[in-house]
Amino acid sequence: MTIETSESRPFEADVSRLLHMMVHSVYSDRDVFLRELISNAADACEKLRYEAIAAPELLGGDPRLTITISADPEAGTLTIADNGIGMSHDELIEALGTIARSGTRSFMDRIVGAEGKEGAQLIGQFGVGFYSAFMVASNVEVISRRVGSAEAWLWSSDGKGAFSVAPLSLDEAPARGTRVMLHLMDDAKSYAERWTLERIVKEQSGHVPVPITLVEKPG
Ligand code: ADP
Ligand code: MG
Repeated sequence: MTIETSESRPFEADVSRLLHMMVHSVYSDRDVFLRELISNAADACEKLRYEAIAAPELLGGDPRLTITISADPEAGTLTIADNGIGMSHDELIEALGTIARSGTRSFMDRIVGAEGKEGAQLIGQFGVGFYSAFMVASNVEVISRRVGSAEAWLWSSDGKGAFSVAPLSLDEAPARGTRVMLHLMDDAKSYAERWTLERIVKEQSGHVPVPITLVEKPG
């Protein structure tokens, strides 16, 4: 008997179009991916902070909400982690497989017919969110555990039409929250360098209401 543990699903058609466009728009300012991932991590911390007003036990022994960016230049990976609210299995599929969100929807409406440089400008103008990770990563892995849940999940994709979701044992998962690991493309390895990350965080994420720590593994 085989037990199905990993499920593979296609992206919504609009997501595939968006991903294709982002990966192929050569003019775009790729730095914005970091702002988007940090802003998602901060949102997740703020959501937990809000829920914990009524239910302080949600914070457990870890009340300090933080974002940690770790870079491994040798492996060519970059990880953005938060100890915020996390995502359940269904939330992962809904949030990272569809374009349900209004911001991205209106971006998609504008982008139809826009090519090259114009498309790139639109990426900067709208926050296009999580999917911008695929401008710099050939593979993205998201580990998430919803606060209070005894389940953790691994979402992964190469951004080429499908993603997979598999259960993760709890000793491989954080106590709560989300880790987004980017396997950087060959021409994007500089995003694993400390000074590049420091510069972008300073430029783009100065007003994030959650402390950000930068960790560089010896490379
Ligand atoms: P937006 O932030 O505008 O909603 P994104 O594409 O940036 O759009 O993110 C999509 C959704 O994925 C978010 O609304 C959120 O539900 C979920 N998400 C992304 N990153 C995280 C994270 N680090 N923690 C919890 N949820 C997240
Ligand atoms: Mg976002």
